[in-house]
Amino acid sequence: MQITKLNYRTILVFIGFIITVSCKTSQQWQGQGEIQEVNTQTVPVSLQFKNVFDLGKGIYASNEFDGARLNGIVLVNDTIISTLITPENSPINPSPWYAFKLWADKEQEITLALTYSEGVNHRYHPKTSTDGVNFEEIDSSNFSINNKIIEGKPKFSSATMRLSLSPDTLWISAQELLTTSHNDSWAQELSKKSFITNSKAGESREGRPINVLKIGNSDDKAIIAVISRQHPPEVTGYLGMKSFVETLSSDSEDAVAFRKKYNTYVFPLVNPDGVDNGHWRHNMGGIDLNRDWADFNQPETTVIRDFFEKKVKDSGGKIYFFVDFHSTWQDIYYTIDPEQKGNKPGLVPALILASGKELENYEPNIKPSPGTGKRVTSTSYFFYEHGAESLTYEIGDKTPRGFVKKKGEITAKKLIELLLK
Ligand SMILES: [Zn+2]
Repeated sequence: MQITKLNYRTILVFIGFIITVSCKTSQQWQGQGEIQEVNTQTVPVSLQFKNVFDLGKGIYASNEFDGARLNGIVLVNDTIISTLITPENSPINPSPWYAFKLWADKEQEITLALTYSEGVNHRYHPKTSTDGVNFEEIDSSNFSINNKIIEGKPKFSSATMRLSLSPDTLWISAQELLTTSHNDSWAQELSKKSFITNSKAGESREGRPINVLKIGNSDDKAIIAVISRQHPPEVTGYLGMKSFVETLSSDSEDAVAFRKKYNTYVFPLVNPDGVDNGHWRHNMGGIDLNRDWADFNQPETTVIRDFFEKKVKDSGGKIYFFVDFHSTWQDIYYTIDPEQKGNKPGLVPALILASGKELENYEPNIKPSPGTGKRVTSTSYFFYEHGAESLTYEIGDKTPRGFVKKKGEITAKKLIELLLK
């Protein structure tokens, strides 16, 4: 199945703009601007058309798998393949999350172009895989970015790469493909431990389970809350969450003592519909879930709110710490205004400081919120509703995966130390 003639012409226009420019290196990351309240009532989303695409000349492509997007693909001439990557709706954060498979009857070299919808620049450095599990970054010498700014806005942006095709499937992906099936396997494996259970707390808009891991064997008087993946492409934050949670679940003496006092509840995949459908940011209601913690118009946020409200009501306990894992351009921590006191004043600054000291050549980048009391994001909701010392833990898109893991481990170890004091 080929893409429409209109798309074909659009792509040809995009191809005309492909030139090599050097990628600007970023200065110190200042973080996002102040969070704005937005209407979170459901709006329509567009899905990608899933298929095996016969591009001609013995070359094939497919997007018949979960996660990321491919919205159009065409063989422009014997050696150039052009793809179109578009979001589920707009306005939307520029996180073009792409993935697809390619193969050919005969071995051959091709140039592949990623082209993006208006207002969006290339973001994720491509990774390839031969099994869809183990991904490697494309060598920079085979890759170039053409981010164009016209009248102050990204327009006709694209990126090109050289690839070798063969009868064996080659995966091309913005980030490692970690979808609900990966998360289910991980959670099942973890819940083999006697002190961990994995259960369904509710359902997403499309009926996927919203699962919660319970880690610990205390009486729920002291609770830790962890969430991740409100935003589908944010794989590095998800990797950080896994490492953090695995460390809380370890056999170390401190972790065992911690679990006698604190129960940790983890929602590792808050937006399973967005993840499996390959959305850039939103859920199936077309909404950024991390703007829905005041109005709760979406099922995913509502499930988590109801779960913790009931937990606290039933036990008479408190949530002492809340962390929400994300990804962005570079590592950064968004914190609550340190002048405002929750159930464990000073915990978050102490945690960041203690973790930072253990990591070599690492200066934590911290951005406190202005402390307006507005409940728009998860962290503001958990702080102002529950008094939980709250942290948005952001990992860079390109942060080396070994460092992501190490930082997650150290953060968990330091949290345990601070809360057992
Ligand atoms: Zn995010």
